Amino acid sequence: MTPVDAGHTAYLSDGRLDVDAEGRITAAVAWSAPADERTSQSIIDLRPMLLLPGMVDMHAHLPQLPNAGLGAGLDLLTWLDRYIFPLERGFDEGAADVVAPQAFRALAAAGTTTAVLYGAVYEGSLDRCFTAAEAHGIRAVIGKVMMDRLRYDPRVGDSEVLELSLRQSQNLIERWHGRDNGRLQYAVSPRFAVSCSADMLRESAALAAATGAYWQTHLAEDRHEIDEVLELFPDAQDYTDVYGRAGGLGERAILAHAIHLSEREIERLADTRSRVAHCPSSNLFLSSGAMPLARYLEAGISVGLGTDFAAGPDLSMFSVMRAGAFTQSGLRTMLGETRPSLSPLDWLRLGSLDGARALGLDDRIGSLEAGKEADFICVDPRVTSPVPGQETDDPADVMSRLIYRGRPDMIRGAWVRGKMLDT
Ligand SMILES: [Zn+2]
Repeated sequence: MTPVDAGHTAYLSDGRLDVDAEGRITAAVAWSAPADERTSQSIIDLRPMLLLPGMVDMHAHLPQLPNAGLGAGLDLLTWLDRYIFPLERGFDEGAADVVAPQAFRALAAAGTTTAVLYGAVYEGSLDRCFTAAEAHGIRAVIGKVMMDRLRYDPRVGDSEVLELSLRQSQNLIERWHGRDNGRLQYAVSPRFAVSCSADMLRESAALAAATGAYWQTHLAEDRHEIDEVLELFPDAQDYTDVYGRAGGLGERAILAHAIHLSEREIERLADTRSRVAHCPSSNLFLSSGAMPLARYLEAGISVGLGTDFAAGPDLSMFSVMRAGAFTQSGLRTMLGETRPSLSPLDWLRLGSLDGARALGLDDRIGSLEAGKEADFICVDPRVTSPVPGQETDDPADVMSRLIYRGRPDMIRGAWVRGKMLDT
């Protein structure tokens, strides 16, 4: 089952995915169809399990994984101070060597084959994260966090931090951006406007533009955060304008959350073709708010989904879909929303092909179509059936159960470029 570039969902109840030696999909066909000679060397029969495109997690924080599930209900700034900054401060090379390989295995076990991640502030620690991703085989976009105020790294003087952070980011881009034929990429990662001066935001955006790296940050997640940003940047029209003035908005910008936006900001994100990583389980966990997703999609904003672990309590994109779907159902009732609601197949698309599109990677991944790289997962829908032996064969119903009755053991394997990942 897969969303396809043409817009609908393709489903074969007894299908086969042909993959060539380079890890590229050559066909998605009926099981009984004649096999292409390039792909008939080894056949793995996974029936009656189901293949889906690998999930694309557009937003999460590697160093935070050990604290996932802690601090529910705190507001963002308190939670960062209490649960996150101490953890990231300790995320040195040794910590990265322990946590990063575990995180990549856990992501694959949850069905994620592409992850967009923040590291901590240390260059050497980022090298270890990239090294672990390279060895594991997952597709990853990673960046060193940049902060020149509200920092957790006291070893660097205030006057040096901007230049040092830019230089280290540049070094990491040179070493890792585009590695393994584009499987690994770099995101220049100023944390958010509370932690970054106007200079850092502007210089980081310039670095991303000059190198072709992504530029990722957080936007309008929490009311206290927004108040703080407007105080720090009194000349800006609104939070989005802080990033606009820095030159950060555009197709390479990945903005996490963006849940409290004015109409002007919504239009600005749509006009600049900036990308939004929607993280509904995190937004519920930290009582941040609820994104008016239907309005954003109507405005034409490019939206994908993210777990935002550790503020998102688990690594499963199916859990994110469930949180998102419940949130949208609640909003419909409260706001009298009349725009059409999203179906389970719409959520599948958001978690896979739309995420790939938001990253500009939809020519490579996001769906199971000939010509794309073979990033896919195998799930067992039988474990989601309330009555064993009475499984449904309708694609929307199958996906509905994967979202609303999903459980960790339904993911049976994850592949990137046709190569199975350790889980
Ligand atoms: Zn985040």
